[in-house]
Amino acid sequence: MKDLRRGRAVFADAAPACDARIPLEMSQVCLILFGAPGSGKGTQAKLLNQSLGLPHISTGDMLRESVQRGDELGQKVKAILASGALVSDEVVNALVAERIGRPDCKQGFILDGYPRTVNQAKIVSQMLNDRGVRVLVVHLKVDYNVIVDRLAVRRQCPVCKTIYGASEAGLPVTACAADGTSVVIREDDRPEVVRQRLQNYDNQTAPVLAFVMRRVIPPWTSMATRQAVPKRFPKAWLLR
Ligand SMILES: [Zn+2]
Repeated sequence: MKDLRRGRAVFADAAPACDARIPLEMSQVCLILFGAPGSGKGTQAKLLNQSLGLPHISTGDMLRESVQRGDELGQKVKAILASGALVSDEVVNALVAERIGRPDCKQGFILDGYPRTVNQAKIVSQMLNDRGVRVLVVHLKVDYNVIVDRLAVRRQCPVCKTIYGASEAGLPVTACAADGTSVVIREDDRPEVVRQRLQNYDNQTAPVLAFVMRRVIPPWTSMATRQAVPKRFPKAWLLR
């Protein structure tokens, strides 16, 4: 675990990612994003992808792509998904190993939604260690009450499925901008459901995060400010 111990962890509030493209050194870097539902993880991943030029690897997207490709692994995944079973750690790990071996990952990559279990975390840390990849853990820490409030004002168009955040005044949007349909709150966004989802996320993720953090020493616990973190961390860390 020698190489992984050189990594750092960042505790970041959801905020805009850094704006300058960072020249990376030769060794491959891996950003592992952790964040509860509604923490803005998808947005951050996109911003980091744009600012750092590192590919954003989402296991959900990868599973769908692999099914579309229809190769041996893809057929296996298709059969598992069709049966309603969960895709095994072994299959997900194989997909990740293949994906991060591609040329666009030469400088590094951003992992989103993976590792999801302690078993996946064990295998991926071994895999990254074997490849000499430097790891940065980014944990988007957003107050759960803020997440509940944020999702409570979110609305979706039942026709075109567009999702709308709150208006500038902080109020829910009433009609779809594209087709004028009255928008509705999604079942998943109701406060009681959101609290349950956050609880599930905590139960599932806490052990994985703890495992990953033990391998990333010392954590950047001091970097908890809203704006400074994303501006500082990639530059400070990636140029090491
Ligand atoms: Zn619409």
